[in-house]
Amino acid sequence: MNAYDELLARLKDIDLVGQIGGLLGWDQEVLMPPKAAALRAEQLSWISKTGHEKLTEARIGELLEILEQKDDLDEIQRGNIRLARDSYDKATKLPTDFVAEMAMHKSKSQISWTRARAENDFSIFRDDLAKMVEMSRKKADYLGYDDVRYDALLDLYESGLTVSRVDPLFAGLRENVAPLVKKVMQSGTKPDMSWVHNNTWSKEGQEGLSQSISEAIGFDFNAGRRDASTHPFCGGPNPDDVRWTTRYDEKDPFGSLYGSMHETGHGLYEQGRPRHLDFQPTGSANGLGIHESQSRLWENQIGRSREFCEWALPIWKEYFPEQMKGVSAEDLWRSVNFVEPSLIRVEADEATYNLHIMIRYEIEKKLISGEIEVDDLPDVWDDMYDEFLGIRSPNRTLGVLQDIHWSFGAFGYFPTYTLGNLYSAQLLTAARKELPNHDEQIRKGEFTPLLEWMRKNVHSRGSIIEPSELIKEATGDEPSPDDFVKYLQDKIEFLYEL
Ligand code: ZN
Repeated sequence: MNAYDELLARLKDIDLVGQIGGLLGWDQEVLMPPKAAALRAEQLSWISKTGHEKLTEARIGELLEILEQKDDLDEIQRGNIRLARDSYDKATKLPTDFVAEMAMHKSKSQISWTRARAENDFSIFRDDLAKMVEMSRKKADYLGYDDVRYDALLDLYESGLTVSRVDPLFAGLRENVAPLVKKVMQSGTKPDMSWVHNNTWSKEGQEGLSQSISEAIGFDFNAGRRDASTHPFCGGPNPDDVRWTTRYDEKDPFGSLYGSMHETGHGLYEQGRPRHLDFQPTGSANGLGIHESQSRLWENQIGRSREFCEWALPIWKEYFPEQMKGVSAEDLWRSVNFVEPSLIRVEADEATYNLHIMIRYEIEKKLISGEIEVDDLPDVWDDMYDEFLGIRSPNRTLGVLQDIHWSFGAFGYFPTYTLGNLYSAQLLTAARKELPNHDEQIRKGEFTPLLEWMRKNVHSRGSIIEPSELIKEATGDEPSPDDFVKYLQDKIEFLYEL
């Protein structure tokens, strides 16, 4: 066997271990009986240890060194070698006892975060968070970086991402979206939400609505599933087996539907991965930012458009004939675009959401560099909410303690949410140039042309090239906030008559 085939065979093994872990994780969230929790933790820890051992075998390093000398490789081979090198370096740069210590500390600090949040007391979480920040700084130092320490952590969630790339994106949002939200608030205009809040929305009806719309968009239920879980997610081992979940609230039908469209978007990306690259790193999705662009595309860019609401209204009426009496497509459209600054990120609307992320990004950047310390966090948090959203949390639970991410050391993760929003607008703008009848197609429920465009320009490209290169290849431009800002301004100014 030549070096390249040997590398691919080893990578396939590692990929299979990860696929099995993914299925166990899905089962844990969706089906597993509660008593199995401790056993499942052991199984998952064995899976992750086995995967790590296979990835860090010295032979992989030797093969990479041989292959990196070659200059007759094609695009896919180069991609596989680049990605394997990246995973191998990341896995071998961290000392084994550091990885074990971090894993132990993650469990401990998630428990103290849960308690602190429930009891609205930051001091319960303070020491564990301080240790987690310290460990994350150390992790960044082990991984290495060129410019600033935080870059090493950003790169874990989107390859090649750095502060110097992200700063201008958030600056564009801060300068344009924060004033837009202020104008909406000053306008005093509000859509009529009474038809939403004065009704009960049965779980069965919401399930039917979610299922119909997910099918219509193009999710293949012969190669995937829809289930319910407390924290919605999309997972599954392979394009033939993609599983997403949602949750239902009988007081609010939008959460499950838009959550379903979000996860359907993730699922479509997974189902569209290039099949000839199964088990190869280049065949996988291209990082969290691009993944999020596909979910946000269907959830927001399409799902909150006027044309989509016109198409979807009869389906709403089919599942909720009583509740939807007298509700027009325009009412629906206005209600799903309700803008209001709120304290909780996961409940935020499309306009304010990225400001929540911008605040977290600025805080993480300063925290990892040492410009601020853990004791400064609660007040820094509240002051930034005041400055950019005009609201202050009455307590820590709704403030600095609301997100789980920092408790397991996921510094650098948040920005990928906003990248997803920006990429989705940029991709749709590019797609529209080749799809002149886009609006009319959405109004008729013809989603295939847009899905095909994404299949060709995004999904089928796997991880062959870096995420920012993929955006450039698909849209002709570097990642930029411009299309998103314009999209939001146009819609919000019209809706709120600004
Ligand atoms: Zn998502």
